[in-house]
Order: sequence, then structure tokens, then C-alpha cells
Amino acid sequence: MTTTTCTAASTRVRSLPVLLATEDDAEDMGLLAPDDRLTCHVHGRWIHQCVASPAHVSPVTRHRWCRGCRCELSVAVDELSQTVAMTCPRCGRGGSAATARLTVACRASLAAERAARRAA
Ligand SMILES: [Zn+2]
Ligand SMILES: [Zn+2]
Repeated sequence: MTTTTCTAASTRVRSLPVLLATEDDAEDMGLLAPDDRLTCHVHGRWIHQCVASPAHVSPVTRHRWCRGCRCELSVAVDELSQTVAMTCPRCGRGGSAATARLTVACRASLAAERAARRAA
């Protein structure tokens, strides 16, 4: 199910408001996991544009959180090279399954935003 959603999102070009509404519906219907969203329903933006916000840090699920250092990971988004990195400012690591998934979503949203801009 996750694979299907990802493929649909990457092959069809959709503007931010359209994709935001689509993902809200898909999430409500249980077809899309919050972690796999390319848009953020809290901030109304592409996920890579607001992932640096404190709202995206969760010590419980370990999204953007280094358990060893008990601090939030810093985010580096490079729109030119389309890279996203999240690392702990103290130990330089801090990875977790949740953070890895968030990073993948950010890379996908970078690509989706670029595609939407080209199509506009
Ligand atoms: Zn957000
Ligand atoms: Zn750390």
C-alpha cells in the first residue's frame, strides 16, 4: 500500500494545495501513514520546508530525536542537490527508523515540489 502511494505521488504532478488535500483524505481513510506524507497538515507546507520546526520533533517516536544525547537533530535541506540530512549536533549520529522514514519523505517532497514548480 505504501509503495502504491509513493509511486502515485512521484509520477503525477500535483500542486501543494491539491496534494495536501489528497493526503489528508488518504490519511483519514487509513490509506496513508503520517510518516509517508509529502505535505504537512500542521504547517500547510511541503514537509521539507517545515521539518526543521520543533513540531516535527518527537522523543517518543524518535522523529528527529537523538535518544543518547536527549536532544533534537538538526536538519540540513539542500534544494539544489536535493539532499536532506538529519544529524545530532552533539554526537553527529542520532539516527532512528522514524528519522530515516522522515528523511525519505523530505527527499520525496523536494522532488515533488520541483516537479510542481516545473509544471506551473
Ligand atoms: Zn510541518
Ligand atoms: Zn546525539
